[in-house]
Amino acid sequence: MTGWLKQLQNEVTEFLFPCVCIGCGKFGDFICVECSRKLPRLLPPVCQRCGKPEPSAHLCTECWKKHKGIDGIRSVFIFEGLIRTAIYELKYYNLRYICRILGKYMADYYRQNNLVGDYLVPVPLHAKRYKQRGYNQSELLAARLSELTGVPMLANALRRVVDNVPQARTASIDERLANVEGIFKCETDLVAGKEIIIIDDVCTSGATLEACSEALRRAGARRTFGFTLTREVLNRS
Ligand SMILES: [Zn+2]
Ligand SMILES: [Zn+2]
Repeated sequence: MTGWLKQLQNEVTEFLFPCVCIGCGKFGDFICVECSRKLPRLLPPVCQRCGKPEPSAHLCTECWKKHKGIDGIRSVFIFEGLIRTAIYELKYYNLRYICRILGKYMADYYRQNNLVGDYLVPVPLHAKRYKQRGYNQSELLAARLSELTGVPMLANALRRVVDNVPQARTASIDERLANVEGIFKCETDLVAGKEIIIIDDVCTSGATLEACSEALRRAGARRTFGFTLTREVLNRS
């Protein structure tokens, strides 16, 4: 779509669906400036590899014990409160335009933390689920991030070949890894020798990102990182 056509489409959309803040109901944006300020940011110190809160700011015990294929994971927010509501709205209530602001949060973090990559690759949905929902929330986030940072997106680099059953939150990391093993295939040689940033809305244990990383590595990716809008942090004091 040409630039002006896209702009027109955005303006028409905004006219037809005026944005209301999902936090306080104020008109203007899906999350207003004040509610944005109060979102639960995942602040340092974090584990250098997996990105979860870690007082030492080096490696967490799990990452010490086990070498992971993925080079690093970072997330903008903790999966709770209003940002959690925003993701539910996006995934289950068809509020796809909320990606404009959610992707902007990711772009701001991307710049502020000097993240670098050759391509953005969204975690794919299984074809069956894509058909049900009509869109992939990770792809929408990656597209917006790409638009704001200029890092190209490879939307179809990965394919989910198995529609895995959602795992119980209490499952161990090994159970989660077993659940997602081999469910992604990389379908392009464009990733060969490149640094890839895998994009998702939520990181729970990191097992999904690991499985994507493995598929990309098999296709020759040089380095792989996970970058998610939110992260589940269990047992927070
Ligand atoms: Zn608000
Ligand atoms: Zn770690």
